[in-house]
Amino acid sequence: MKSIPEKGIPRKEVLDKLKGFAREDVNYRDNKIFSLVYYLGEEHTDFLKQAYGMYFSENGLNPMAFRSLKRFEHEVVRMSASLLNGDDQVAGVMTSGGTESCLLPVLAYREMARAGRVIPLRRPEMIAPETIHVAWEKAAKYFNVKMVHVPVDSDCRADVNAVRRKINRNTIMIVASAPSYPHGVIDPIAQLGEIALSHGIPFHVDSCLGGFLLPFVERLGYEVPPFDFRVPGVTSISADVHKYGFSAKGASTVLYRNIDYMKHQFYIYADWPGGVFASPALLGTRPGGSIAAAWAALNAIGMDGYLDIARTIMDTTGKLKAGIEAIDGLKILGKPAMGVFAYKSEDRDVNIFAVGDQLEKKGWLVDRLQKPDALHCMITPRHAAIVDQYLENLQGGVEIVRHNPKLATSGNAAMYGMIAHVPLRALVNKQVAKMMDELYGPQCIMPSLSTGSDQDSDPRAVKLLSAGLNALNRLKKGS
Ligand SMILES: *Cc1c(COP(=O)(O)O)cnc(C)c1O
Repeated sequence: MKSIPEKGIPRKEVLDKLKGFAREDVNYRDNKIFSLVYYLGEEHTDFLKQAYGMYFSENGLNPMAFRSLKRFEHEVVRMSASLLNGDDQVAGVMTSGGTESCLLPVLAYREMARAGRVIPLRRPEMIAPETIHVAWEKAAKYFNVKMVHVPVDSDCRADVNAVRRKINRNTIMIVASAPSYPHGVIDPIAQLGEIALSHGIPFHVDSCLGGFLLPFVERLGYEVPPFDFRVPGVTSISADVHKYGFSAKGASTVLYRNIDYMKHQFYIYADWPGGVFASPALLGTRPGGSIAAAWAALNAIGMDGYLDIARTIMDTTGKLKAGIEAIDGLKILGKPAMGVFAYKSEDRDVNIFAVGDQLEKKGWLVDRLQKPDALHCMITPRHAAIVDQYLENLQGGVEIVRHNPKLATSGNAAMYGMIAHVPLRALVNKQVAKMMDELYGPQCIMPSLSTGSDQDSDPRAVKLLSAGLNALNRLKKGS
């Protein structure tokens, strides 16, 4: 379709077309994916659609016009704050998702730091472990704040002493994860909170992933180190309702210990010809549907429902982790706190990315990590049904890879290995930028999702690979 059809197509026909295209997508309903979709089944999805549909046209931009949405937002914030052990001083807003909930605190704390200065703040800095979600890197870039990374220990937790050493007069904030996206590991929040408090620096806990799961994991009796508003130095927390809150996409929360922090993220412009303008977050128009659906999800699932969900997730996760560690050569990274974890290979003859390729041949959608190379799992209750099949395919994949060393240097495994290990990161960046141009350029060249078949890998991957190899060779020759 290169232009809008001259004559509108009957709705029924359009809907049929829409439905047809879904065939090209990954099928999340068979529970063979471990990211992107948080799915509880059709019944819950239909319920969310109803709630979303009821407020489909409403706009959260103007709370005076849609008091209903203001109420839902207020209640979602209060429910989230209480779940995360905040008192009634905690203030917050709903956002469009985790990324927005990460962007806003960087803006707020930068503005706050500026507001308090006699001598201008030249180069604001934020401190974060290397494992922090990429949304924070994006925030640093967007808001011109220097990202100062600290390493993580062998358990993938932020190095507390390194954080202490990196603090200087330009530091506007510290951020850490509960838990981290790559490894599902909680950073030493209590210790970081002490440091933040003693230096008077704001401290954000990124609980986008864990905010609606960890509190229930803790209630089930698992060991969960303090990560929320109970830690005195924590000044803000982000938690995504559209992840483990099992709401419709487009819903997250960012909460501040009190309004004095949050007010720095508000945008007000009184001189616009279009009228006096004020907005609490990033977006202008805010879809009422996602706000209403978030409210609906929290109310319908309830504390008992979330506890059941957490129980199933933790049981499933326990079985998967035990099964993975029982496979010769595989090891879970760190001590994951909840239903998110990664595993690597400790056997030189077993390339973990090649194992990933074998899993994809069996129809699994596999997420690869780097630094260190590993495979990723994010568990929902539906995965209870696939534990045995996954472990069987994994075991089989490991054996195949062990007996076919060339699998490590061919196909996707080679590409991912190259992307992860080519020393010239600028080169990787350049190649990815090229892919982005192709993907979003006027031709829209689609990189094919790995199909799991034996066909040759994506030509772009091959290009990337050969560019990387050439660069390595040039390096070796010393030119
Ligand atoms: C998912 C995630 C984000 C970003 O959330 P989006 O909803 O994808 O924008 C940020 N931090 C963590 C820890 C996450 O898991």
